[in-house]
Amino acid sequence: MDFNDTPDEATFRAQARSWLETNAKPLGDGERRGALAEPEDREAVDRSQAWQKQKADAGWACITWPKEYGGRGATPMQAAIWAQEEQCFEVPPNIFSIGIGMAGPTILAHGTDEQKEKWIPKLITGEEIWCQLFSEPAAGSDLAGLRTTAVRDGEDWLINGQKIWTSGAHWSDWGVIVARHDPSAVKHAGLTYFVVDMHAPGVEVRPITTINGGRIFNEVFFSDVRIPDAYRLDAVGNGWRVAITTLMNERASIGAAGGDAMIDELLALASEPQPDGSRPLDNAAVRQKLADFYVRSKGIENAGKRILTTLSKGGLPGPEASLAKLVAGSLMQELADYAIGLQGQAGVIQSSWTDRYLSIPGIRIAGGTDEVLRNIISERVLGLPPEARADKGLPFKDIPSGPPNA
Ligand SMILES: Cc1cc2nc3c(=O)[nH]c(=O)nc-3n(C[C@H](O)[C@H](O)[C@H](O)COP(=O)(O)OP(=O)(O)OC[C@H]3O[C@@H](n4cnc5c(N)ncnc54)[C@H](O)[C@@H]3O)c2cc1C
Repeated sequence: MDFNDTPDEATFRAQARSWLETNAKPLGDGERRGALAEPEDREAVDRSQAWQKQKADAGWACITWPKEYGGRGATPMQAAIWAQEEQCFEVPPNIFSIGIGMAGPTILAHGTDEQKEKWIPKLITGEEIWCQLFSEPAAGSDLAGLRTTAVRDGEDWLINGQKIWTSGAHWSDWGVIVARHDPSAVKHAGLTYFVVDMHAPGVEVRPITTINGGRIFNEVFFSDVRIPDAYRLDAVGNGWRVAITTLMNERASIGAAGGDAMIDELLALASEPQPDGSRPLDNAAVRQKLADFYVRSKGIENAGKRILTTLSKGGLPGPEASLAKLVAGSLMQELADYAIGLQGQAGVIQSSWTDRYLSIPGIRIAGGTDEVLRNIISERVLGLPPEARADKGLPFKDIPSGPPNA
């Protein structure tokens, strides 16, 4: 793949930049916005929705999504160019990382035409916010071990159970949910994937506050929640296959965050003169560390370009998305740690770096922990023998769980 812009791409980049210059304030020279900023209050959510609408009205929202639903119908490469340019402008934090980053691509890949017509246009215009209801108290890494049930009742399904760590559920209109319709089937085969109305009777959202005081997470309880069968994505029993589409898009988007913006900030910090007039950057050990961070971030960038190549050939992000996420998570954490250290005692009271230091470990857990990603890479990229799985081939209801005699 040639990483330079083709003439067409250069034209597209110029158009994107020109629209952004008219509609948003540029960041300083070389500054880039962190890709992971999420709104934490209603005012920020409103700004995020207004920005999405503004982009949609001008044809700059959901660059690769079909034109018939309000997307731009452009290439993954053009979407990447847009993202690179938008990062250089002061725009609101993004409330759509789940809706547009994960739910939308899943509906486009597995939904019927009616489902696409119902949900995709309002995702593009930012009118509706989505959340991802996968994890449960006893099913995170082992997602296929989830226990929320879906029982068919006429034209509906009745959903009962509990989800946890649901980002943005308190702002959401819709959620994507995986539930167990058949406990007699082996665990992956007994799952079905639905879209659930977050305002439906029986849905209860309870907040969880994070270590840095953040308010992004929730527990969500389902008590006899009715989901029409028309909101089922793909066939009954295909839930695992559909969930993989969502997870691959999640890993690709987290991996793509890459820490680039943080490297720029760290470089700026290391270039600032200290009270004695020296700069951290004058120290060879600091330069070597920054060079190491830079090399790793370029590795992630190039892994991201491999993902783009796959997408531009019509494929889905594969195990390489796990690789980018694995390296990006630890790189961002080390960057924040090093930035705090560079500032000496002042580092621990400098909120922008300490805040990230406390929140980045979550990136190493969300959408697949480091250990789980290593398992995926060892099995699917390196072809090493799979993990021993004691539950393989057993009906879900016969898998031992909890303490003996429980
Ligand atoms: C910032 C953030 C946002 C999130 N947002 C959402 C969301 O919107 N929706 C949602 O559904 N979930 C969300 N989650 C939940 C996330 O998907 C889970 O936390 C994650 O899958 C890990 O599951 P767990 O927390 O149950 O940990 P566990 O799976 O219990 O893991 C505990 C430890 O055991 C290790 N481990 C587990 N299995 C293996 C194995 N086979 N081999 C080696 N080690 C293993 C893990 O690496 C980890 O260190 C979010 C999490 C975070 C941190």
